[in-house]
Amino acid sequence: MEVWVPGPLFNVYSLGLTSMKKVDTCSAVIFNGDGTWERRDDFQIPEPPEGGAVLAVEAVGLCHSDVAQLNGQKHVPGEISPTVPGHEIVGRVHALDSNAELGVEIGDRVAVNIVVPTEPTDSNPFGFSCYGYSFSLEDSEGLWGGYGEYMSILPQTQLEPLTNELSAEELTIFEPLSNVIAWTSRVNWHEKMKVVVQGPGHMGLTFAAMAKEMGTEKLIVTGTSEDQHRLSIAEKIGADFVIDVSNEDPVEKISEATGGVMADLVVDLSSAPQVPGLCLDLVRYGGDVIWAGLKDRQAVPVVTDTAVMRGITIHGGAGGTNRSLRKAVEILNTKDFPTSLLLGEVFSMNEIDDAMAVLNRTSHNDAVRAVLSHNRK
Ligand SMILES: [Zn+2]
Repeated sequence: MEVWVPGPLFNVYSLGLTSMKKVDTCSAVIFNGDGTWERRDDFQIPEPPEGGAVLAVEAVGLCHSDVAQLNGQKHVPGEISPTVPGHEIVGRVHALDSNAELGVEIGDRVAVNIVVPTEPTDSNPFGFSCYGYSFSLEDSEGLWGGYGEYMSILPQTQLEPLTNELSAEELTIFEPLSNVIAWTSRVNWHEKMKVVVQGPGHMGLTFAAMAKEMGTEKLIVTGTSEDQHRLSIAEKIGADFVIDVSNEDPVEKISEATGGVMADLVVDLSSAPQVPGLCLDLVRYGGDVIWAGLKDRQAVPVVTDTAVMRGITIHGGAGGTNRSLRKAVEILNTKDFPTSLLLGEVFSMNEIDDAMAVLNRTSHNDAVRAVLSHNRK
């Protein structure tokens, strides 16, 4: 037994070393901009910038636009690679600079507005930057996106407090919801709205859920025969019916459902090139169309005469606003939004390859969404 005397000492010492290592460094996934990603475990946990904060990221939603970013297609002002991506960020305030005026306390769970004012530079003259897109690995500790376990927060960042009563993973839907709220605010919404959402990805389903929340007379979601799982979620969210466009003619179905008048609002949240043009055929005279599905910068066929003759208003669906973010958080904090239906699959950092497979739809398991959780080790 005596030979074991140094044992506990040795164990305490080695435990100490392990925990010290954990405190100093953390992990993040990097997008190289050439279709490849890698995980690095040697990032320094950031110190708060002057007037800023550090977040311990709890979870980040993965998004179709991450695929474009992975392949180096720049679609956000100031976007660069390589970088730590991730823009649907829920985190807890881990550290605050003594001069921080961010309206939050250490330990608060927050949603991050990715758009933050920054000084114009030659490479980014816009006067703002986006977390997850426009910061390089050389900027401070290099952690400025949700795919990292920690991230730096600059002064003037909008941080909105989120409820502790839902999981961080479910709450990452705040960012898609904020975008959707910004788009719907441009449409004259009335009691008898007939809404068609094309593309049952996480944006399309979030749109459908918000349309339901705002009140619709008819809510229709379309997808292809590959989207059976997603269309079944659309029905659970409250779609009056779904259309499988691989087997059914959407023009005929919408005409039938609206007595030939067609829909008040038609949304493209698909990646298919024919959908922007199809929107114009599905909308009524004087109706609204939202084009928000990215097409990898390909030109798409559209008969503009239809828009002219029907007097259609077309909106481009980009990001959210400060106000739409606040509204999204308000809705989620009521806990009445169908966040569990919209969650999809949750992955840990060790499962990043599986998460990317779901995002790229190369996995044999389909999910409405993939979420990377830093809570899950
Ligand atoms: Zn997104």
